[in-house]
Amino acid sequence: MTKENRTDGTERGTDRHRGRQQCLWCHLPVIQSSTGRPRKYCSQACRQWDWVTRQRSAELSLSEKELVITRDALDTLKDRIYELACAVEDVEGDLEPGLDPTLRDYRKALEWVLEAARPLVREPLFTGVRR
Ligand SMILES: [Zn+2]
Repeated sequence: MTKENRTDGTERGTDRHRGRQQCLWCHLPVIQSSTGRPRKYCSQACRQWDWVTRQRSAELSLSEKELVITRDALDTLKDRIYELACAVEDVEGDLEPGLDPTLRDYRKALEWVLEAARPLVREPLFTGVRR
């Protein structure tokens, strides 16, 4: 959906973030300063973790497309995706047109999906690298 398609004049998230630089490590938007070179990382910590992982990748002879992560980080990611998938499935059932959902139902459904999605977008998964 584009900005023009919205009746309230607001932009959707994907439109609002289009063209913004994402952090090469955590993929959050990077706030650019008005001077200097464009930033590639949102923080010094992300720059450092990216550097460390590149060093470790080189030590292990991994290609650019391969990555070693902890089982805990992978399990956490899988859990968060599973929780979001369950919320989507719940909402699809709750808002089935045959049930004639009310505005309150839509509101509750949105809150439920947002609650499941927030950990994926707000809480960093890979904040550390084992040495
Ligand atoms: Zn970052």
